[in-house]
Amino acid sequence: LLQVRGLTKAFAGTTVLDGVDLDVEAGSVTVLVGPSGSGKSTLLRCLNHLETPDAGTITVDGELIGYRRDGERLRELAQRRIAAQRRAIGMVFQQFQLFGHMTALANVVEAPVGVLGVARSEAESRGRALLARVGLAGREDAYPRQLSGGQQQRVAIARALAMDPQLMLFDEPTSALDPALVGEVLEVLRDLARGGTTMVVVTHERAFAREVADTVVVLEHGRIARSGPPSEVLDQLSERRAPSLD
Ligand code: ATP
Ligand code: MG
Repeated sequence: LLQVRGLTKAFAGTTVLDGVDLDVEAGSVTVLVGPSGSGKSTLLRCLNHLETPDAGTITVDGELIGYRRDGERLRELAQRRIAAQRRAIGMVFQQFQLFGHMTALANVVEAPVGVLGVARSEAESRGRALLARVGLAGREDAYPRQLSGGQQQRVAIARALAMDPQLMLFDEPTSALDPALVGEVLEVLRDLARGGTTMVVVTHERAFAREVADTVVVLEHGRIARSGPPSEVLDQLSERRAPSLD
C-alpha cells in the first residue's frame, strides 16, 4: 500500500532522514521505534504532507505523494492530488489536539461534513458508531475537558477514522497518558489491527509491538537500522540492552 524510497529531509543543514526505504502492506501493522531525534515524527509527517521531503518518493496505492523540489512539473502534478491524499491518511498525535470548544461528536463529524461534504445527519450517525467502536458510547456530548486523556485520545482516533483513511499514522499515541490510561488506547489500536486497518505506529510499548506488529522498523540517525518481525528485531534490541528503543 505504502512505498517509500530514498526519503531524505534536512532541517537547516542537519540531515534528519537519510535515504529511508519503507514498505507497508495493506492490512499490516508497522511499529516504528528508535531513539529520540532519530526522525520518527519527521518520517510520519512527510507521509502526511506536513513536511516536504528534500528527495525521494512516497507512493500510496501506486500513486506518487512525495514530490521533489528538483522537479517543478512533478511537484505541480503531485500538488493537485495532495489534498485528496491527505484525506486518505489519518494521523493521531501524542497530544490529542481536539477542538476544545466542540463536543466529542462534533469533533468527529467536523471533517466529514466540512471537507467531504457528507450530510450532517449521516456523519452524526456514523460518528456515533465510531465513538461506540472506541468505547465512548454515551459520551458524544462531552467536551474534551470533561474527558480523561485516554478518552480524549480515543475521540482523536474516532475523528481520524471518520475520514475513512486508507492508512492510519500514530505518533506516540500513549506517551502523554497516565500509565493507567495507556491500556484502553492500546486496546483500540489492537481492535483496529484485528479489523485490518493499515497502521504505522511510533510507540515505546514493547508488549504491544510484540503482539500486534507485523514488522518492527528501527530508525537510527535518520536511517533504517533494522527491520523485520518483532520477534527478531525486538530480541536483538534486548540483547543490545535496548539503547535504541527508549
Ligand atoms: P522523539 O522520539 O523525541 O519524538 P523523533 O524520532 O520523533 O524523536 P523527530 O521529531 O523526527 O525525532 O526529529 C528529528 C530531528 O529533527 C531532531 O533533531 C529535531 O530537533 C529535528 N527537527 C524536527 N522538526 C524540526 C523542524 N521543524 N525544524 C528544525 N528541526 C526539526
Ligand atoms: Mg517524535
